[in-house]
Amino acid sequence: MSPSIDTSSPAIARFDPESLSQRFAAMAPSDIIRWAVDTFGDGLLMTSSFGAESMCLIHLLTRAKPNVRIVLVNTGYLFPQTLIFMEEMRRRYGLNVMEYHSQHDPLVYLTVHGETDPRMRRDVDACCRDNKNEVFDRAMRELAPAAWVRGVRADQSAIRSRMKVVQWNTRVNAWAISPLLNWDHRRIFDYMKHHNLPFHPLWPQGYVSIGCNPETCTSPVAADSDPRGGRWGGMDKKECGIHLDQGAGI
Ligand code: SF4
Repeated sequence: MSPSIDTSSPAIARFDPESLSQRFAAMAPSDIIRWAVDTFGDGLLMTSSFGAESMCLIHLLTRAKPNVRIVLVNTGYLFPQTLIFMEEMRRRYGLNVMEYHSQHDPLVYLTVHGETDPRMRRDVDACCRDNKNEVFDRAMRELAPAAWVRGVRADQSAIRSRMKVVQWNTRVNAWAISPLLNWDHRRIFDYMKHHNLPFHPLWPQGYVSIGCNPETCTSPVAADSDPRGGRWGGMDKKECGIHLDQGAGI
């Protein structure tokens, strides 16, 4: 059951998401971000996985607000290349990265939960709940943003196609803002090329959507395949959970 929304709350009553989303549907991501920065100021933060094309949204947002908080959820199972890439970007662009870690030791967690092969996951939902969603929820509780900028796109999944550019998120208790919702892979690629932004080092090897390193969780895909097809390939699972209002119940 979805949590009820107190529409009388001043934070929620402040905007009408329906009219805002209609207004934003035809607007460029940079204009949406400008509105978000002007509206929420230091109450804004963004999440980033420092994945394949993450520098697109990071560049857009930091041009408008250079010191914006960028939250990285470190599950303990990220690719080493992701952490190296994050550190390179942090230094090169002066990013204000806030890294939140799983409370579990990565190897101990696998042993305790009967995961006998570190290259695979048998229970992906339990692992995402314990090592990703718990971390995300803790970060959001501690940082208490007024608005959360995220990089979801409508063309990535059926769930994401139903999202709005601006919508109230009951889980985070803040506005969720998705400036790239109506962009596709091509537009992001063109933006990154135009601004000479770096891609994740695994991107040239076919890793176009990058999460954790077990083969069950991230694998390369052939050119022109569904970019999200490399995430939990062959499973019904489409989301790690942080973009769902009921993340822990994925
Ligand atoms: S994506 Fe895979 S390794 Fe990462 S938290 Fe989820 S199940 Fe665990």
